[in-house]
Amino acid sequence: MSYIHSEGNYLICDLCFHECRINEGEHGFCAVRFNEQGALSLPHYGRLSAVAIDPIEKKPLYHFHPGKEILSIGFYGCSYRCPFCQNYHISQNVDERSKIYTPEEVINLCENYSSFGIAYTYNEPTIHFEFIMDCSTLARQKGLKNVLVSNGNLKAAPARELLRVIDGANIDLKSFNTDFYRKEVQGDLETVLSFIEIASEETALEITTLVIPGKTDSPEEIREISRFIANLNTDIPFHLSCYFPHYKYTLPPTESRIVLELADIARESLHYVYPGNVGHIETNTYCPACSNLLIQRKGYNTRIMGIQKGKCASCGSPVAVVLD
Ligand code: SF4
Repeated sequence: MSYIHSEGNYLICDLCFHECRINEGEHGFCAVRFNEQGALSLPHYGRLSAVAIDPIEKKPLYHFHPGKEILSIGFYGCSYRCPFCQNYHISQNVDERSKIYTPEEVINLCENYSSFGIAYTYNEPTIHFEFIMDCSTLARQKGLKNVLVSNGNLKAAPARELLRVIDGANIDLKSFNTDFYRKEVQGDLETVLSFIEIASEETALEITTLVIPGKTDSPEEIREISRFIANLNTDIPFHLSCYFPHYKYTLPPTESRIVLELADIARESLHYVYPGNVGHIETNTYCPACSNLLIQRKGYNTRIMGIQKGKCASCGSPVAVVLD
């Protein structure tokens, strides 16, 4: 489905929270979906801002094929306006000189680089719904995996359709505060929570919260987020990432100590909690039942240590890690 309908001279886009009314000759809030003579046009279908091979841990996904590298592609545009965006040069701009790829060409890149799948990442991929559906469906037919790194700003019907072809996802839960979503990033908390709930049913899900000083660093808020995730599944990995100044934000970086303390609070509710961007500490995975070391991580160097046939090699408990 295209999730678009017309109303008078307008196109109404039903893909995300914004529900844009797009006048003829204009595009929606995301700068991607365009009204061309009363019909939906996608001038940036397949226009990639970046193509790279990344460790899967960089997404970050720690429990989905750990230690593997994945073909990672980015597009242009976004359905948010985060003033702290790390990739604002591609999220808030479209470079029309950049190369357009077909889904078949992306699949060929996977084969050339011996990648086990495709990660849709760097900018907000869901606004390129049609390309991802086409590419992911083809990738599935070829036995490849699909990974989505998203802000979760998609309405329930397209979310269900998209997530059915996605194998692993990391979703940003930027805050548990409605005002933060509305005022800081022009998004909607309820839409994201709904997306996360659907994702928890459809795919191997991990969640990331960026810890911003004075904005998203309160212990109460992290406790609330952790309990929300735990209500879905205590095995969902939760990443608490250290903020650094980018784009319009000039707040100083988050102290590593704060992120480590918040991680301890999250561990009251969740089995797998990982601090991110906090320097040279190991971000290992331990068995929740017996504390055996399951996966060792030093930076992007990952070693599977204590897992045998999907279970802890020490106590035999099942471990929530997707392996081959
Ligand atoms: S996907 Fe783009 S055009 Fe559609 S509602 Fe969201 S921001 Fe608007």
